[in-house]
Amino acid sequence: MRYYDRLIFELSRKGRIGFSLPACDADPVKAETAKGVTGIWRESPLDLPEVSEPDVVRHYTNLSQMNFGVDTGFYPLGSCTMKYNPKLNEEVLQSFLGLHPLQPESTAGGAEELLSFMKKALCEICGMKGFTLQPCAGAHGELTGLMLIREYHRSRGDEARCKVIIPDSAHGTNPASAAACGFEVVEVKSRPDGLVDIDALRPLLGPDIAGMMMTNPNTLGLFEKDILEIASLVHGCGGLMYYDGANLNPLLGIARPGDMGFDVMHVNLHKTFSTPHGGGGPGSGPVGVSEKLLPYLDKLKVSGFHGNFGVIARACAYILSLGREHLAEAGTFATLSANYIKESLKDCYRLPIDSVCKHEFVFDGLAGGGGDVTTLDVAKRLLDYGFHAPTIYFPLLFHQAIMIEPTETESKETLDAFIEVMRSIAHEASREPEVLRTAPHNTPVSRPDETAAARQPVLKYEFR
Ligand SMILES: *Cc1c(COP(=O)(O)O)cnc(C)c1O
Repeated sequence: MRYYDRLIFELSRKGRIGFSLPACDADPVKAETAKGVTGIWRESPLDLPEVSEPDVVRHYTNLSQMNFGVDTGFYPLGSCTMKYNPKLNEEVLQSFLGLHPLQPESTAGGAEELLSFMKKALCEICGMKGFTLQPCAGAHGELTGLMLIREYHRSRGDEARCKVIIPDSAHGTNPASAAACGFEVVEVKSRPDGLVDIDALRPLLGPDIAGMMMTNPNTLGLFEKDILEIASLVHGCGGLMYYDGANLNPLLGIARPGDMGFDVMHVNLHKTFSTPHGGGGPGSGPVGVSEKLLPYLDKLKVSGFHGNFGVIARACAYILSLGREHLAEAGTFATLSANYIKESLKDCYRLPIDSVCKHEFVFDGLAGGGGDVTTLDVAKRLLDYGFHAPTIYFPLLFHQAIMIEPTETESKETLDAFIEVMRSIAHEASREPEVLRTAPHNTPVSRPDETAAARQPVLKYEFR
């Protein structure tokens, strides 16, 4: 262990200080009074680490380097769209930081203009008729969209529609949101080519179907070519189509969910329109609707005020700085990058569905099975080479899934470096599998007991 990997309490030495201030001249009588009044006066001095200024600086600087972010290196985490977040977006946000949600509307015209611009821009990008910016995450958007679907059916006296159809490749939030909204989830199988099986869909349709949730391209990165037919079948039985917009990136400026027959959708602003979102936040999941659902949008209240304004403002800066023509390039380059990596590695890693993908694709472990070496080992070994691991063991369709999404913001050189490392890991798997099974070797923590780390995390230092 490096000396400065120690906890700051372990660096502490009695009496060491990092500053000097004049002696305290607070009135001891007043202090005594405060003690009596509050009843929460500390009996013994607080146990703070006693360290010099350089120790403090090194402590925090080293802590910051124990983390991995999109500003540290390549982050091909499938489904999450970890694209680089231009610093300009943060700069633009600075001018809004003084706003308070309760200040008079007449003094917040700029913020209001930004919000109404974003609704218009999202309508145009997605082919929808209206948007609410309130939901604060993709999953929150799903719940909101499903509530709109429920309201639509109820208000027409169509109470029997209690089921939502979801493909087996869907993100886990889809069935979770449907269940949270009180719907029964019905799974529809994918065909061997990874697309929704229309023949399996047909018998599920009927007067009890509230709608169907889909993402396109789907979770395998494959474009659902039959989407128009699927939408018309679902509409034909009286259901509505929900679009999970987490995979909107490759479609930007090229195709629109509204034109594919979707009635309601969310956008993950924090994914598609660049916001730092590693570690689970912050997010924004605006919900868009077609003409049919427009009347229900206004009555909706799913969050305080206007949602996550900071994320919305960053997305606005991103959209405006790319402009109409360059927005369409984002998805094109994301698609090119994903296909480039896929084709360059498919001799070393098993590609279960060998076709052109959109912005991401899925390997199923190492070619030839990998012997004892698992997808987890490959992911852990990548960390030693300074790359964030791809998404693993999702989607659930494949047992050794490795889901890679490079995004459009990486240079060919970075993609080549990643390809080379993935190839050498595949090579190591056959020659020295033990190196992989015990990886990572160069990170502050190697292989924590993940269940214990989640269920019994040790988050505080015990003084001995
Ligand atoms: C990320 C994601 C979601 C959920 O979005 P959150 O903002 O994390 O709640 C839903 N579906 C897909 C396909 C996703 O990738």
